[in-house]
Amino acid sequence: MLDLTITKTKTPKEKPQKITGFGTVFTDHMLVMDYSADKGWHNMRLEPYNNLALDPSACTLHYGQGVFEGLKAYRTQEGDIQLFRPRDNFLRLNRSCQRVCIPEVDVDLMLEGLLELIRLEKDWVPDEEGTSLYIRPFIIATEAFLGVRPAKEYRLYIILSPVGAYYAEGLKPVSILVEQHYVRAVKGGLGEAKTMANYAASLLAQVEAKEKGYSQVLWLDGVERKYIEEVGTMNICFKINGTVVTPALNGSILPGITRDSVIKILRKWGTPVEERKISIDEVITAGKNGTLEEIFGTGTAAVISPVGKLAYGDEIITIDNYGEDSTALKLYNYITGIQYGRIIDEFGWIVKI
Ligand SMILES: *Cc1c(COP(=O)(O)O)cnc(C)c1O
Repeated sequence: MLDLTITKTKTPKEKPQKITGFGTVFTDHMLVMDYSADKGWHNMRLEPYNNLALDPSACTLHYGQGVFEGLKAYRTQEGDIQLFRPRDNFLRLNRSCQRVCIPEVDVDLMLEGLLELIRLEKDWVPDEEGTSLYIRPFIIATEAFLGVRPAKEYRLYIILSPVGAYYAEGLKPVSILVEQHYVRAVKGGLGEAKTMANYAASLLAQVEAKEKGYSQVLWLDGVERKYIEEVGTMNICFKINGTVVTPALNGSILPGITRDSVIKILRKWGTPVEERKISIDEVITAGKNGTLEEIFGTGTAAVISPVGKLAYGDEIITIDNYGEDSTALKLYNYITGIQYGRIIDEFGWIVKI
């Protein structure tokens, strides 16, 4: 049974007329839950969105003990609200928790709490084409203690942010730089967990790639610098000679839910799909001999992000192949079709609110 206290704001915000951009506007309320060693996770509540009060020695501020998730709520044409595979996000949250010694949460309870939060904030779910309500659950270590060990106190939050359409006018191919100097993660490290620290590791490479005119970096494995990992906020797929190849989950790649959805959809369509090691040399060779048909990233934010240009040292591959017949566009239309309720969900992925 869900035992949820609700404290409503006395000063509701003005909702923006038109939703554009990502992650700057937040709704009126958030979900909060506490953890202490004697009570476990307790006191789930909805309260006004507000600044946090944290002791400056709170562990999370010093040693990065924190995890997060990202998913979206979608408004259908009929005006209903629905989520895409939310249980998988909370299951992954627990796997991330395990890796950085944060106590796991009750997935069913979290799902119920999230649904209540979204019901309370339903008027914040935008309805213009392509918009959605981004959902950001996260957990931080709040214990006031400067020693290095797992904290004994935590807080979980879920905040909500209405976000604009990722593609205002059709899929827009991005340019990506293969990172040769920095590494994001290695097997045995944090790469397969959705921890805050992974992003700290990626920022400098991202900044340097931007300076060179690329929008993101493609990470190679941290040991041999030879095998492809992912894009940092997205997993990656290569269509070579009719087969979609994506790097296997090897312990340093984040197991994306969009990635998993893409694999399951391609299998259903009968499109050959392989999860395996794939080297950057194989991709460059395929790019040169004409068998590389498409490259696309997969992630909650963009769903499918086609790559128009890939640079690896002096080698530059360009792909301009994302028309109606492309796998990238078909996947994009199919997944967003399910998310917005335009296509029947044969996979049981949708949770209606
Ligand atoms: C969240 C994330 C992804 C994408 O995962 P989805 O569940 O598909 O949104 C990919 N890589 C990293 C590093 C991530 O943090």
